[in-house]
Amino acid sequence: MELIDLRSDTVTQPTEQMRAVMAAAEVGDDVYGEDATVNRLQQVAADLTGKDAGLFVQSGTMSNLIALLSHCRRGDEYIVGQQAHTYKYEGGGAAVLGSIQPQPLDFCADGTLDLDQIQATIKPDDSHFARTRLLCLENTQGGKVLPLDYQARAAQFARDNKLNLHLDGARVCNAAVAQRVPLEQICRHYATVSICLSKGLGAPVGSVLVGTRQFIDEAHRWRKMCGGGMRQAGILAAAGLLALEQQFERLTEDHARAYRLAEGLQQIKELSIDLSQVQSNMVFIDCPLEQQQPLTDFLQQQGILIGGYGQLRLVTHLDIDDAAIPRVVEAFRGFFTRR
Ligand SMILES: *Cc1c(COP(=O)(O)O)cnc(C)c1O
Repeated sequence: MELIDLRSDTVTQPTEQMRAVMAAAEVGDDVYGEDATVNRLQQVAADLTGKDAGLFVQSGTMSNLIALLSHCRRGDEYIVGQQAHTYKYEGGGAAVLGSIQPQPLDFCADGTLDLDQIQATIKPDDSHFARTRLLCLENTQGGKVLPLDYQARAAQFARDNKLNLHLDGARVCNAAVAQRVPLEQICRHYATVSICLSKGLGAPVGSVLVGTRQFIDEAHRWRKMCGGGMRQAGILAAAGLLALEQQFERLTEDHARAYRLAEGLQQIKELSIDLSQVQSNMVFIDCPLEQQQPLTDFLQQQGILIGGYGQLRLVTHLDIDDAAIPRVVEAFRGFFTRR
């Protein structure tokens, strides 16, 4: 029985083609800036996002951390979503390693942060307060695609308030294909963007941080300090390059499958799904709390893995095909009709 792993889009296996380009990658010592494949990946990422330069790093967590360390100094503050990865799921790295104070705010239902609420939380220039320096948004946020006009307004807001603007764009490629716009059209609103290559794009390892040349030079120093300098990293960069160049547009397939999955599961009366929130490759399901663990265990026996805390979460990706969708819907149905 073939396993259907819907826990995350991080579980993808590198394709045969990806393994082949990794094996054949031209490499050098990247600490000397001599790895041709890393350099190419960084340039391609910069070009796609309309930025000057890129920096290849091990993970999205390191990429966000390096961005925060580069934007802020000790005693500065950044404004961020209460449920944002950067704040909640990265071990408090900005505070622990950067002495950067987070100011979390609740996300709105559409994954945005309310600009009036941000305005009210910006600290005056007064010795009592941390210096509010940076605003950090996330796109996609819980599978939701941030509206383009909101991002334009957030950029103007940041300029008006002399804040830097960083995007945790772990899944910003999903946002771009969902809105059918070039990546640049989203990234233009941000000073810096962090993009995961190892989520839906399907590379085994890595993220890229993009920004101005000057910013990336600064980020390069912080990467070294964080222990992120790598040597013949072109073997990994080759996978990231293939992911960006050849596994980007296919994210639309993941979105279509996620939506079909949501439509199918919505027919089951014990489950509740807000279809308007299914905008990319994630489906969140409300289901009675006491049913969640038995359901997860039942599905596992059928070779289906799902995730979630509080709400169930199903994520489509490269290794989920069309045939998986009805099989998953039937398995859910089987749980609620079992005797
Ligand atoms: C996965 C993720 C990250 C971090 O990436 P890792 O490579 O797992 O460290 C950051 N932000 C968001 C929104 C993510 O989903």
